[in-house]
Amino acid sequence: ANISAGPTVCTTCPYCGVGCGVLATPDATGGLTVKGDPNHPANLGRLCSKGSALGETTDLGDRLLEPKFKGQPIGWNDALDMVARKFNDAIEAHGPDSVAFYVSGQLLTEDYYVANKLMKGFIGSANIDTNSRLCMASTVAGHKRAFGTDTVPGTYEDLETCDLLVLVGSNLAWCHPVLYQRVAAAKAERPQMKVITVDPRRTATTDISDLHLALQPGSDVALFNYLLAEIIRRDAVDQAWVDAHIEGFDDAVAAAQAGDASVTGLSDPDLTAFADIWIGTEKVVTIFSQGVNQSTSGSDKVNAILNCHLATGRIGREGMGPFSVTGQPNAMGGREVGGLANMLACHLDIENPAHRDVVRGFWNAPRMPEQAGLKAVDMFKAVGDGRIKALWVICTNPAVSMPEAGAIAEAMKTCDFVVVSDLTDKTDTARLADLVLPATGWGEKDGTVTNSERMISRQRAVLPAPGSARHDWDILANVGRRMGWHDAFDYETPGEIFREYAALSGLAAKLGRDFDISGLQLISDSDYDAMLPQRWPVTADGPSGRMFADGTFYTPTQKGRMLALEHREPASKTSPEHPFRLNTGRVRDHWHTMTRTGKSPRLGQHIAEPYAEIHPLDADRLGLRDADLICLSNPHGESVLRVLITDRAQAGSIFAPIHWTGETAPTGVIDKLVTANVDPVSGQPESKSSVVAATRY
Ligand code: SF4
Repeated sequence: ANISAGPTVCTTCPYCGVGCGVLATPDATGGLTVKGDPNHPANLGRLCSKGSALGETTDLGDRLLEPKFKGQPIGWNDALDMVARKFNDAIEAHGPDSVAFYVSGQLLTEDYYVANKLMKGFIGSANIDTNSRLCMASTVAGHKRAFGTDTVPGTYEDLETCDLLVLVGSNLAWCHPVLYQRVAAAKAERPQMKVITVDPRRTATTDISDLHLALQPGSDVALFNYLLAEIIRRDAVDQAWVDAHIEGFDDAVAAAQAGDASVTGLSDPDLTAFADIWIGTEKVVTIFSQGVNQSTSGSDKVNAILNCHLATGRIGREGMGPFSVTGQPNAMGGREVGGLANMLACHLDIENPAHRDVVRGFWNAPRMPEQAGLKAVDMFKAVGDGRIKALWVICTNPAVSMPEAGAIAEAMKTCDFVVVSDLTDKTDTARLADLVLPATGWGEKDGTVTNSERMISRQRAVLPAPGSARHDWDILANVGRRMGWHDAFDYETPGEIFREYAALSGLAAKLGRDFDISGLQLISDSDYDAMLPQRWPVTADGPSGRMFADGTFYTPTQKGRMLALEHREPASKTSPEHPFRLNTGRVRDHWHTMTRTGKSPRLGQHIAEPYAEIHPLDADRLGLRDADLICLSNPHGESVLRVLITDRAQAGSIFAPIHWTGETAPTGVIDKLVTANVDPVSGQPESKSSVVAATRY
């Protein structure tokens, strides 16, 4: 009854970290028509297949419309009281670290801010982590080690104005399609622009590359150590820049020179060609993504890339620099707002007493943890062994998407109290919850997101909230009040939360942090509603210029830091029992566990079922033909997939997508086979390099 056609609303796509602007117009049936926003700087009117199908994903068929306790409807008052009581009981009996939140890079910044404030400032634990741990944590660690802060230095224009674009562990064509379109258009306009892809697989992205380096899985540090050693050998260091702005140079160079590039498996002519083009081209951008991050040496891989840019001064200037592209729509916002267990809001560090004091004072917080909380893998281990007594999962589906997903599901079954807030109670995770809370989703809620180039954009409501669904920030604030902290969580609008966050960022900037949006702390509700996309920092003087343009970094010495790095093999080793390396990733037309994209018949046509890419030689050995079924297995479980024989895969490696769930393809869930080995610095799991046995099914 409350559905009507309405005016067009400018909002932002809820999928990948490109952060495309979307014009959404509600029709009279509860649906939407969408098109790309020509005025949004990220996409300039473009949308990919997923974004353009958003209007097909807003039906209410599987929506959760009211809170349910053990499958039975209960009112919001009872539900919120129950969450507050269960968490307070656990804290009273077992201490603050006996509870945890596991949240999502798809939350809006305002949701994230309230969740982080509740856990770190009031409950007094740092046990809040996010699915961005599976996505971006190694980049955060790498940036912090090199720059002193988690700063993405570049902009999307740099990808178009560079003369060489190196893509490392990134299938940009499928995972960040509009950025890929921008790159492809730039290359078509300037054919002299070169593209190099570094990826064990040949992918849709390698189709536009001038050179594809199909290195051995996990050998990126060796490749970039080789490049750094060549930069030295060929006298291509920007010595004046290094002398003025860089520390750690000598040790980094010595480690690089001691490296062995043969572990990459690349031929000498390919290595030489890589060094020739990279060193011979001043305007180089190096994009990196999950192939770099999802590794037990992910942080080192990031720093190996950064080392090369820092040694040559190819950073802080137009058309050059390292550039991490984020997987989720608000992975960046989550990093900025302190969604990771080792961070405070505004890029402040939880283990830094001065940073803690500022946040504690600003929040008037009764208690704050002094150490990092449990990162995702360790958090679910603590759920499994009983240390976590109450768990709140918000807007994510760890029972399918975490490594060793089967064990995650078992762990949740044993937890005393699990509450899940989501759009639907049909996910594998929601099925394990004691209490499910209906949350609003994309198109129904207001707030901000930050994309991969630090651009803050508004998501805006264009449809009414279905049933009694509530916004995540509102649910969290309600629980905070019921736990006893009325004043601290007395929010009425997301704009109010944003202003508080912006004010805190001004204090963070005074402590030498990069994240500063203090220029927006007095923004009125109407200006917040009308806010245009803008790249931070945004001080009282307006948006600032290019990061690191003056060679000043955020380390204590204000110098960029190069690191001495050594190649390490992936943690899981192949063996006669498990001879194949399993690589996992996305397909073009689906998103995460398909709760939204699975609704669009059009998107289902691209790839209809879970599959395994396998090299012809391996297929031959296993007696497989195209479209046969293959069973992949290891001690964590097994998965049955359709066979796709292709020399895009390396012999000995199998690629399988992450999207299918216990609901959509019960035998095709792949993350249960991913071993929960993590990077020792970032805690990010090695989702690209597990090992499996393979047999014809
Ligand atoms: Fe959405 Fe990413 Fe596609 Fe843009 S590129 S429309 S943000 S999924």
